[in-house]
Amino acid sequence: MTPASSKPRVLTGDTPTGRLHLGHWVGSVERRVALQKDYDCYFLLANMHAFTTRFDRTADIRQDTIEIVKDWLAAGIDPAQSTIVLQTEVPAIAELTWYFAMLLSFKDVMGNPTLVHELKTKGLEEKYSFGFPMYTVGQCADILAFRPVFIPVGEDQEPHIEMCRKVARKFDQLYCNVSDRTADQDYEKAGGLFPIPKALIGRIARLPGVGDGTQKMSKSLNNAIYLSDTSKEVQKKINKITTGRQSPTEPGNPDNILFKFVEAFLADPARIAELKDRYSRGDNIGDGHIKQELAQSIDALLEPMRARRVEFEKPGGDDVIIDIIKAGTKRANIVAEETLYRAKQAMNMDFGKRTIS
Ligand code: ATP
Ligand code: MG
Repeated sequence: MTPASSKPRVLTGDTPTGRLHLGHWVGSVERRVALQKDYDCYFLLANMHAFTTRFDRTADIRQDTIEIVKDWLAAGIDPAQSTIVLQTEVPAIAELTWYFAMLLSFKDVMGNPTLVHELKTKGLEEKYSFGFPMYTVGQCADILAFRPVFIPVGEDQEPHIEMCRKVARKFDQLYCNVSDRTADQDYEKAGGLFPIPKALIGRIARLPGVGDGTQKMSKSLNNAIYLSDTSKEVQKKINKITTGRQSPTEPGNPDNILFKFVEAFLADPARIAELKDRYSRGDNIGDGHIKQELAQSIDALLEPMRARRVEFEKPGGDDVIIDIIKAGTKRANIVAEETLYRAKQAMNMDFGKRTIS
């Protein structure tokens, strides 16, 4: 077997602000499951990022951290193959965040379009903390601590990944003498510590939430279908999708929110094409019927996940999860400490190697 460390690395993660939903699946988790055999994968539990908005609800962050790992395992992530990392137990991430904060301008951070959008949609505009925008810098450190080549994420993360690439280029140019004319793929070859990692945007870049489809599906916006939802909950939530169409004979728009879901979750492309055709002609096909078919398809996707989850819902299940988190984080610290040490050497900040257990 190839040792994990000789494979190219992948890093991505989720914020424990709630359970995982279908947006996570199509945006990133599905790809993670597919990549874990051929890549050295690190999946990060961004509990410090959850703390930036929920510092008054720390018990929730702790429980959501555990629930997300259950969702990962249920979805098919294998902790024997992939490394599960708890952000707050990797000190190198917090330290790199400080250094990286100096490599970005205040404007880079505050002008990040995803951050600006979050301040609006999460009702934070008037009251966000001094620390909240730091999560964007922290995310550069989450990623670069593992020096990955790929970051599988949803579309909303693109500005964050661009920031991270900017930090990597700047660090390599400033401290590793890499020329600013170097092509992104050649930074390591040219002596840079950090590769310039690439975002892998999911099959569905941005799944809308249930409702009118204006917002993305999000844990924080109360519009999500969770991977752990029951069949009944799935059907109930799918029924909340609104298209404004009045009758089965009214010609509909096959690019509307309902069809975003159809394209994401119906397995048979021929059936999708048929539904689109009949819908656009108003050929006696009701929204209600499509929603039923959709809910069945989603159910077929979630059923094996529910079955795998049962194992961890038993008494003592949380302890098993905590052990998995600890074991993964220990492995992760070896890589992150090495990165930090090399970064400090490059910056003339090294005063001897340290060990953390
Ligand atoms: P929060 O509302 O707390 O920000 P979230 O639902 O946006 O939570 P994150 O933990 O921020 O979830 O995102 C984890 C990963 O899932 C990211 O790669 C993100 O791009 C992806 N993702 C989240 N929501 C969607 C979505 N609706 N469609 C596609 N990808 C998504
Ligand atoms: Mg988010």
